[in-house]
Amino acid sequence: LAQLFRPLDLLGMVYRTIRQGVIDMGAMFDLVDTPATIVDAPDATVLSVPRGHVRFEDVRFGYEPGRDILKGIDLEIAPGSTLAVVGPSGAGKSTLARLMYRFYDLTGGRITIDDQDIAQVTQASLRAAIGIVPQDTVLFNDTIGYNIAYGREGAGQPEIERAAQGAAIAGFIERQTDGYATRVGERGLKLSGGEKQRVAIARTLLKNPPVLILDEATSALDSRTEADILDTLEAIERDRTTIVIAHRLSTVVDADQIVVLDAGRIAERGSHAELLRHRGLYADMWARQAREREEALAAE
Ligand code: ADP
Ligand code: MG
Repeated sequence: LAQLFRPLDLLGMVYRTIRQGVIDMGAMFDLVDTPATIVDAPDATVLSVPRGHVRFEDVRFGYEPGRDILKGIDLEIAPGSTLAVVGPSGAGKSTLARLMYRFYDLTGGRITIDDQDIAQVTQASLRAAIGIVPQDTVLFNDTIGYNIAYGREGAGQPEIERAAQGAAIAGFIERQTDGYATRVGERGLKLSGGEKQRVAIARTLLKNPPVLILDEATSALDSRTEADILDTLEAIERDRTTIVIAHRLSTVVDADQIVVLDAGRIAERGSHAELLRHRGLYADMWARQAREREEALAAE
């Protein structure tokens, strides 16, 4: 009997170690709330992204049983093109981004990148291929330089500074006493939401991934800083597959396709011009935001 137990103990230990490994990877890769339940398939392959062709096929998902958040999402994002996702808060937009990064497994359907199911590839290779600028960026208790370099292992100082420039945060960093060696986080410099967002953008510029997800990436920026960064973002979106989740519709006008997500379903899809002609949800949102812009201008 003792002999029987020993292998089981060993199995238990290996299992715990693997689990622990997954948790640590999660904590490293992720940034917000990574659940530890995602494991690589036993025969997981390394994702290869020669084109960046992304597909969602009847994707269904809920955080809790019995409460579906996404109710059958079909999307096709051609290599190098930009998809914009808009819709009311709570519609499930950020959930789409989290599922692509495989923070959670689907309850139905599948997501593929260049015809490989993301549930069948290693998480490390999936996450290496995708850059996310999240809504809320969490920084490490380390230097600001480290926090940017985290976008790519082995990045040199000139590249880090170029990324910081692209994200309109170089000036801010140079004004700190210790420059790029300035510590941030609990025991260091506190950054505003907008500054953290710019660190995340710099990180992504450095990572230079074939697939890019911007989740309200400029929502915490004032309009001047946003204008500074928009050119950079446009440049990085140009030759890669991009999903832009946007609250401000002025940032999605040029997207190749726009989908309006409402209560977990795609309510409308098309180009900006097509959606305006359709006179539905998108046209309403556009009219409302145009009114708000005019009121803001009038109030200045
Ligand atoms: P959006 O980005 O469109 O505002 P989200 O995708 O963040 O919406 O959220 C969609 C829905 O899922 C919301 O009702 C939200 O409350 C719920 N939700 C988001 N994250 C979690 C979570 N970790 N656990 C349970 N419910 C969640
Ligand atoms: Mg969101």
